[in-house]
Amino acid sequence: MKRRNFILQSILGSAVLGIFSNSVTAFNLDKSLKNSAMISYKSNIFPLTIATWNFPNASKRAGELLAEGATALDAVEQGVMVEEADIRNTTVGKGGAPDRDGNVTLDACIMSPSGDAGAVVYLKYTSHAASVARKVMEETPHVMLAGEGADLFAIQQGFEKEELFTEGSKLAYQEWLKKKEYKPIINIENHDTIGMLCIDKNGDIAGACTSSGLSYKINGRVGDSPIIGSGLFLDNEVGGAVATGMGEAIMKSVGSFLIVELMRQGQSPQDACEEAINRIIKANPNFKEFQAAFIAVNKKGEIGSHCIQKGFSYVKYQDGKNENIPSSYNF
Ligand code: ASP
Repeated sequence: MKRRNFILQSILGSAVLGIFSNSVTAFNLDKSLKNSAMISYKSNIFPLTIATWNFPNASKRAGELLAEGATALDAVEQGVMVEEADIRNTTVGKGGAPDRDGNVTLDACIMSPSGDAGAVVYLKYTSHAASVARKVMEETPHVMLAGEGADLFAIQQGFEKEELFTEGSKLAYQEWLKKKEYKPIINIENHDTIGMLCIDKNGDIAGACTSSGLSYKINGRVGDSPIIGSGLFLDNEVGGAVATGMGEAIMKSVGSFLIVELMRQGQSPQDACEEAINRIIKANPNFKEFQAAFIAVNKKGEIGSHCIQKGFSYVKYQDGKNENIPSSYNF
């Protein structure tokens, strides 16, 4: 690259970064450069919400809050709460499918723009697992609470004790008990774990990932969704990524962390998601038997998404509207 172009690109990059980090005044820009940076801001890239699968009510809730000026962290929490409360959704929150012994257990994590994180695993009595994760992040010196301790903590924090096993999930479980066949279904009901990333008006990013995990898992099994770096990772200087699908494969590749690091090195969100899926395929000879999917966004608002099997999509809420976008895939 010629030196002049390199300098120009660096200045432009800094201008855009300055806008996104709300510190444009720190840069000594000439007027035309300031204007070009302002244009990208006014083009309504931010605020921006993306979420795994087609959860339009959740993304709309987050997107509308962001439009009103909510922080990314508040918006992402409120967004995923919509699905956690929806008992028709058997893969997240209340109404989630149980493990093979009939326990509904929830896993979730949350990350703030500062890089702080909280998580809960094997939560049995509170549907809003991501909110409990936020309390772990904000009210304790720890990152993750599990099982009985997580439930007790939730109650101490004022969460209502709930029965998560609904009539609908009980009926499906009774049916499952007849054969007791454990075979995770690819693209189950065309939705699954909700992983959401929000970028607010200031350009700050937050994320959450919440799930009832794999249906009819072994009692005690925890997936990728609450694991920082696997189900979710973000860095406010770079962007973020979230995952859905076979947690075991995602955990072994630490996929969300990998994607953020690849973006840090200059890869686009799309290329980074493809690389993360390729690594899972390479490491798992049985890759055709399960789904794994990632979505990612960088601080320019560029989005990527890739999965193993056809059928995964993500939802984007931007500029007042939802869009359900099919992901690229390998097979
Ligand atoms: N990743 C979740 C888990 O393994 C489930 C899913 O998203 O399908 O628990």
